[in-house]
Amino acid sequence: MSSYSYDDQNVFARILRGEIPCKRVLETEHTLAFSDIAPKAPHHVLVIPKGPYVCYDHFAQAASEPEIVDFTRTLGRLCTELGVAPGDGGAGYRLIANAGSDGVQEVPHLHVHLLAGRNIGPMVMMRP
Ligand code: AMP
Repeated sequence: MSSYSYDDQNVFARILRGEIPCKRVLETEHTLAFSDIAPKAPHHVLVIPKGPYVCYDHFAQAASEPEIVDFTRTLGRLCTELGVAPGDGGAGYRLIANAGSDGVQEVPHLHVHLLAGRNIGPMVMMRP
């Protein structure tokens, strides 16, 4: 069992408390989706659980089933609502969830990046 300590002063915790603004895209009981402040694609949305989870494996271990179901379904709904779901004729998208130092995670609150609206390119840029 892993142990995580959650920093409640991180920027996404402050967005969830309404202390700093965000451009909201979709909100449900357990999940918030908002535009990334420095978009890397025409659609660049961050999807976060409202609970205090640091990264994906923390969420998978510690979140309740309703939170996990809500998060997963909200991500799927977002793809449909943005018109990027391939099954609905959309051109597709990429999901990214960075974790820890090797994952180059900047904000220690779980977030999935949804990138779409152009070809996103190779999966990973290899460093020499
Ligand atoms: P990561 O490197 O996966 O932790 O990504 C953090 C992301 O959060 C980056 O893409 C930032 O542009 C984004 N970000 C940081 N602060 C804000 C903010 N106040 N509102 C929206 N996005 C933000």
